Amino acid sequence: MKKRLFFLCLLPTALFLLCGCQAMLTSTVKATDKAEQSGMIAPATAVSIKKSTTAVSRTMEGFTPEQEYYIGRSVAAVILTKYPSYASRQANEYLNLLGQTLAQASDMPQIFLGYRFLVLNSDEINAFATPGGHIFVTRGLLRCCPNEDAVAAILAHEIGHIQLKHGIQAIKKARVTDAVNTIATESVRVLAPGEADRFTETFGGVISDITTMIHNGYSRSFEYAADDVAQTILRRVGYDPNGLVAMLMVMEKKLNPGDEAGFAKTHPAPQDRISEVLRRAGGTYTPVKAPKARQARFLKAVGKI
Ligand SMILES: [Zn+2]
Repeated sequence: MKKRLFFLCLLPTALFLLCGCQAMLTSTVKATDKAEQSGMIAPATAVSIKKSTTAVSRTMEGFTPEQEYYIGRSVAAVILTKYPSYASRQANEYLNLLGQTLAQASDMPQIFLGYRFLVLNSDEINAFATPGGHIFVTRGLLRCCPNEDAVAAILAHEIGHIQLKHGIQAIKKARVTDAVNTIATESVRVLAPGEADRFTETFGGVISDITTMIHNGYSRSFEYAADDVAQTILRRVGYDPNGLVAMLMVMEKKLNPGDEAGFAKTHPAPQDRISEVLRRAGGTYTPVKAPKARQARFLKAVGKI
């Protein structure tokens, strides 16, 4: 009996790892009902299992856009303590012009307070995206871009991480109960400044989980999924999806073999990403032919970055 109970207590976690939140909730409730009907577990235990399963499921899907924004804003603040922003109005306006256009073509065009794009003053080759829609690209990474289509590919990849909620999925399961309790008491749609501070204090652990994940890198499957989203967005806007491959080719030459910082640490090797992008798209690389006006705009904004 004890063994069965132990198994059933593990059931929500096991199912969570195997399937999506809603699917997990349905499967676990069904399995618990069956176990209760057959007399394997007491009714009170069944209620408890269902309660904890709903809690897990609600946390992963239950952040409101506002809560994601405030979590993301705190993650962005941590990133900005490590990397200063690049004070070029021209470069930042350019990045925002491209970024806003790409975001509107994504499957998640509207988020609370919108997307924001910023150039970081660092030679490191890297980019970051927070769940709140803040996207950062270093000067080092922009130097890997031979054309605007390549810059668009980087931004579309980062929008992909946000759209697929990769940052939110980095939150450790151990934070689940705390987060659920906080969410349950936060009924306001828009948080006032004081409430926002209290919110970020409560979510300190959550913020640190996401920041750690951003710095250490997502899984390879997340990276390839973000590349897939990027290709879709680029096509919708009218950019050449080969821009992503063009950027990765330059990056491959610039990254040193034993490099353990920046993009080398947070992303699969450029060659692996190139192969995967081409394999999934079922095509071969053809160099990007950027229209003259587009290339002139690119060179003027970030050509000497
Ligand atoms: Zn990525």
